[in-house]
Amino acid sequence: MSLDEDLQGAVARGELTAYYQPQIDLGTDRIVAVEALARWEHPTRGLLPPRDFITRAEENGLIHEIGDFMMETGCESGAGWHGHGLDLEVAVNVSAVQLTDPAFLGGLSELLETHAMPPELLTIEITESQLIEDIPMVATRLGELADLGVGISIDDFGTGHSSLSRLQELPFTELKIDQHFVQDDDETRLALVAIMVGLIRDRGVRVVAEGVETLDQLRRVRDFGCERAQGFYVSRPISKSGIDSLIGA
Ligand code: C2E
Ligand code: MG
Ligand code: MG
Ligand code: MG
Repeated sequence: MSLDEDLQGAVARGELTAYYQPQIDLGTDRIVAVEALARWEHPTRGLLPPRDFITRAEENGLIHEIGDFMMETGCESGAGWHGHGLDLEVAVNVSAVQLTDPAFLGGLSELLETHAMPPELLTIEITESQLIEDIPMVATRLGELADLGVGISIDDFGTGHSSLSRLQELPFTELKIDQHFVQDDDETRLALVAIMVGLIRDRGVRVVAEGVETLDQLRRVRDFGCERAQGFYVSRPISKSGIDSLIGA
């Protein structure tokens, strides 16, 4: 109860912050993108992870405010790096609840312009489980977003129990293999993941491996044909200034 009350006005009080987790290109080992991840600096409970407040925010409507903050912060950072001559892509997580807002698209397009953020440097991530709830609505919204020139990523792929053929109705440019598959040790399941990655890549979609925690896992996802990797083995999510020093901005 009290967490819900605390969340009211948390954005206005400056308690929300974006951490960033790097993604490396598995061909060059260079950092090519970062994912923005919400953190709440709670006045008494300390730094809270998204699982403590995102679902609640989706239920009580505060997700619009939090989502707008994360999108603006991500675009501001991305535009700043771009201004330094560093074309680091920025991925921002978006809830399906935000997509239902008729003002979302206009707001985003205005944001890109205000911050002079090149749309091709922004990727919007939506979890597979949220995507499949209402495919026709989501397909329309994502089509409009794709027209803006931003990338569209299917997050936590493999956990939403959707079929690839249904997902193909959506204009996505990237697919993130969920960490459970990346960390799996079962040979048969791994063989299936490898086949899946091949099929997806054949369609010109970029495949990113999430939750890479060890060198073995990094080698494996590279062998699968994943183009990018993200995970604790590369770096944990860190503050904006942490990223700045990592990339020399
Ligand atoms: P996600 O988008 O799949 O983000 C990846 C999550 O996996 C992050 O958790 C990250 O810290 C964690 N992770 C990264 N590498 C590793 C690894 O090697 N091992 C393990 N065990 N975990 C790893 P985080 O930051 O707690 O975020 C959890 C989820 O909350 C995100 O999953 C995303 O779905 C949601 N989320 C985060 N920020 C936002 C936001 O601004 N808006 C919305 N709508 N959802 C958000
Ligand atoms: Mg994500
Ligand atoms: Mg994920
Ligand atoms: Mg997740």
